Amino acid sequence: MEDVVDLVLKRILMEDKYGNQCVCEQCTNDIKAIALNNLKPRYIATEKGSVLSKANMFTVQSEIDVTKVLVEAMEKVNKLPKHRVME
Ligand SMILES: [Zn+2]
Repeated sequence: MEDVVDLVLKRILMEDKYGNQCVCEQCTNDIKAIALNNLKPRYIATEKGSVLSKANMFTVQSEIDVTKVLVEAMEKVNKLPKHRVME
């Protein structure tokens, strides 16, 4: 799951509208941590009684979910910047 979050986050950050997103280690780690927390229950529920492999679970729908959760996590992190501004 973490790899998927990583991949989708990289894709989001390549979009113009997220060009201003701080991508320091602190912020990206926070974004991923929040996103993983929000995704976990959903994916555990999906896994129950399922014989699908992790790769197969990553359907188009789940990619949309991960994107949504990551954008929400980004907004949370942006409201509470924990990182030190080095400029
Ligand atoms: Zn930052």
